Order: sequence, then C-alpha cells, then structure tokens
Amino acid sequence: MTLKCQPKASHFIDGEYIEDTDGKIIECIYPATGEKIAELHSATPKIVEMALKSAKLAQRSWSKLSGTDRGRILRKASDIIRERNRELSILETYDTGKPLQETLYVDATSGADALEYFGGLAGSITGEHIPLGDDWAYTKRIPIGLCVGIGAWNYPTQIACWKGAPALACGNSMVFKPSEMTPLCALKVAEILLEAGAPKGIFNVIQGYGDVGAALVSDNRVGKVSLTGSAETGKKVYASAASGMKHVTMELGGKSPLIIFDDADVENAIGGAMLANMYSTGQVCSNGTRVFVQSGIKEVFLKRFAERVAKIKIGDPMDEKTQFGPMVSEKQRSIVMDYIQKGKAEGAKLICGGNIIDGDGWFIEPTVFSEVTDEMTIAKEEIFGPVMSVFEFEDEHEVITRANNTDLGLAGGVFTKDIQRAHRVVDELEAGTCFINSYNDAPVEVPFGGVKDSGVGRENSKAAIEHFSQLKTVYVRMGNVDSPY
Ligand code: NDP
Repeated sequence: MTLKCQPKASHFIDGEYIEDTDGKIIECIYPATGEKIAELHSATPKIVEMALKSAKLAQRSWSKLSGTDRGRILRKASDIIRERNRELSILETYDTGKPLQETLYVDATSGADALEYFGGLAGSITGEHIPLGDDWAYTKRIPIGLCVGIGAWNYPTQIACWKGAPALACGNSMVFKPSEMTPLCALKVAEILLEAGAPKGIFNVIQGYGDVGAALVSDNRVGKVSLTGSAETGKKVYASAASGMKHVTMELGGKSPLIIFDDADVENAIGGAMLANMYSTGQVCSNGTRVFVQSGIKEVFLKRFAERVAKIKIGDPMDEKTQFGPMVSEKQRSIVMDYIQKGKAEGAKLICGGNIIDGDGWFIEPTVFSEVTDEMTIAKEEIFGPVMSVFEFEDEHEVITRANNTDLGLAGGVFTKDIQRAHRVVDELEAGTCFINSYNDAPVEVPFGGVKDSGVGRENSKAAIEHFSQLKTVYVRMGNVDSPY
C-alpha cells in the first residue's frame, strides 16, 4: 500500500535518508480523517550514534567558514522554502491537521523568516575589544558545538527552523528530534538545507519517542539542548542537561492571561481573544487561555464572542476556506474533552461548544466557558486545545494579582485604550512575552520565551545568538609580566 506522505526513510543523517527497521514503529496519521499517511521507525541506538557522530564531525569545518558564508547558505534555504511554500504547507497540514489557510502563512514562511534573519546576522556575530590601560582584552563569540533540538507537535516546520537557523548561524551543528506525532516536516528542512549548500551532517533529523530525546540530551558530546515541550518534560530535560553542564533553552507550556478592560475596543479585543484561543485549534503554547474581562463589558464581550465563534468555518483542512481543523491526535482530543468535563462538573458555565464533532477526524467544537473561578481545574492547568475560560474582574490591582497566580509565565496580553495603564499592567505581568492591544504575534525579530516554569532562554531575535554561542575571553599583556615570585 502506498502511503500518501511516506518519506524515503525515517531519518536524515549526513546528507542521506537512513532507515533502521529495528526501531519501534511510528504511525503517522492525518488528524482530519484518521488515515495513515506514513510509517516511520524510531531511532535505534545505532541511528542515534550515527546522527551524533556525523553532526560532531561536520561542526568543525562548518565553524571555520566565515559567518557570511554560513549565512548565505541559510538565506538560500529560506528562498527554497518560500518557493516551495505550498507543497511544504500541505505537508504541514497532513502532519498536524492545521488548516491550509494557516499553514500557507505561518509555518514554512516563519521557518523561512528565521533562516533569512539568522542568515543575515551570521556575519555580524562578534565579540568586543576591552581596553585596559596598556593591556587589552578581547572576546570572541564562539559556537557551543553540537546542539540538540527537540520539538513539540504543534509547529513542526517552524520549531525545526527556529532552533536550527540560529544554531547553524553561530557555527554549531544540530541533531533535531521532532515529536513522534509530527515526524515529517523537519525531514524537509534537512533536505532543503543540504540543497542550499549546507555540508552533510550539519543538520541531522532523527525520529523517536521521549527515550530517543533522553538519549540525545544525556550524550556527553552535546553542548546545548533546546527543547519545545511541556513544563513537565522541560524539568526532566533541564535536569539531565544540568548533570552534563550543558547550555539549555526551554520553551515550555503556558496558562497565560489576557486582560480586557472595559474601555477596550470590544471587536478588537474579541479578535485578540480568538487568536489567543482558537488559532491552530488552540494548540499554541503562548495562548491567552485565561481571559479576564472587566465586569462592565463582560456581557457584550460574551455575546459577540459567541456570535463570532458560530461563524468559524470548521472542516476539511485542505479547503482554504476552512478556519478550524481537528486536534492533532485522538489522545490530545480526549485530554481536552476531560478538561471540558471538569469545567462543567466544577460549575463553569458553558457559553458555546463543548462537544466532539462526529466524523472520522479528531474534531472538537470551539469551546468557551464563563463564570470560571481561579480554583477550577480549567483555570489552573494548561489544556492545549480550543477551550477559553472567561473570568470577571473589577479593578486593575485585583486582576494583576489573579493573572500572576500561576507557576507558568510564558505570555500575557492587555486590551485597553489607556496607554499608561497598558504599560503599567504589562510591567506587572510575570510573563516573558507580552502583547498590548494584540495577541500571539511572533515575528522573528523579537525575543520569544517565558519566565517561571515556562522556561529559560529566548528564541528568535539577537537574543537567540547569545543562547547558541559562548564567549571566549583573551587577555593580552603588552608589557612585562609583573610577578611577585
Ligand atoms: P512534550 O513535553 O510531551 O514533548 C516535547 C518533546 O520532548 C517531544 O519531542 C517528546 O518526545 C520529547 N520528550 C519527552 N520526554 C523526553 C525526555 N525525557 N527527554 C527528552 N525528550 C523528551 O510536549 P508535546 O509534544 O506534548 O507538546 C505540547 C507542549 O509543548 C505543551 O505544553 C506546549 O505548551 C508546549 N509548547 C511550548 C512552546 C513554546 O515555545 N514555549 C511551543 C509549542 C508547544 P515524544 O513526543 O516522543 O514524547
């Protein structure tokens, strides 16, 4: 039987597709229909070793190229991605179930943005000169070496590029392990980098479950680990990396607040809350899932929100008119349904949605709860699905205290026309990434990441260069050594 999206083999190592059928089977299912579209194998210890060995070796000569030469290759890869955007977007839709209407604009294209941006920066990664009287010192920004990237399933192309592009720009190599739920897209990124002129082995992709990720993280040739995943996995990976004194970037989960004051433009605030809860069927780490609405506009907000939700076009993700696709997997859908049941059982009021949509795929209705209190399970735990909780508040001080009452701190947003209040509120929010009168924008030029249990380090922007390189200091004495001995 031919499978629609079957790659040549499961892994891409040293410029070639490699298979080892001894590895556990990974079935790739199209979430919109339940159809099997590819079958891959998890990496065996032999594959893990091949990937690490080849990336370690490739890194030496890659780091000797000038930044401009490295950057040119990344920018070429970016151009190829843009040329093939439609084909890559269709694959992303098969891998994740996200509607083509989204994937055409935010997946391969944001991967291309990262390759273009870091390709442009690669020639400007420099240290500084520090005058010390007659003596002086200088610093060099040098690569860390072999890096490991581990991805979540919601943005497989973007995550591979957000990690790969800055790593490679700084002269590192990378072994990337996608989530076993979405194994296909990162293979294309590896293929395209090779086609753009990247040396073999500089970006290897291997498949696998958590055990493969754990094997990569604990290997002593690895100098840096960048993970996108849940806070729970992040803590395990961070601990393992720490025992080998490795650098880390942890992009983890969130339970972010979106605060809407009663002077806000209601339609804009609803648009922001939609983007913060329904985009990618709610499977976005930075989502503003705790929506605090000031009492004066709560009724109109809920009424208009429900009216706009009713117009969301749900269905075949390959139809470009479709705005809302299935959950990534049956398991993820059942996790989300459990949360919906808990919301109902604990007394939240269901405004709309709450049901599975009949059919072959893993569809669920866009769901909104109001009358949510801070103690309810749906108020405290990351759901990672299209479930928005609306809380009522009276004043600024109260809402800030409640918004910060969580161990997570990925993002936060505020809608208000009062510019001073907007800045005052984001100043107080315990979150790494904030939005004023907007939500979930993530251009490559700005740092992205969380505080508290939502992670350490930042992706994108110039900040990512610091996280994928390290400083070497050189002290230069110009005169004699003044030694007391
Ligand atoms: P998981 O934490 O379950 O998995 C993340 C990745 O880590 C997967 O590739 C997983 O492999 C791997 N993994 C699991 N255990 C280990 C281990 N012990 N050592 C090394 N690697 C391991 O997250 P999900 O894939 O379920 O993604 C959803 C989560 O990701 C949500 O919490 C979400 O908020 C977060 N996320 C954060 C983002 C951010 O930028 N802050 C962006 C997107 C998502 P396997 O899948 O095989 O278990």
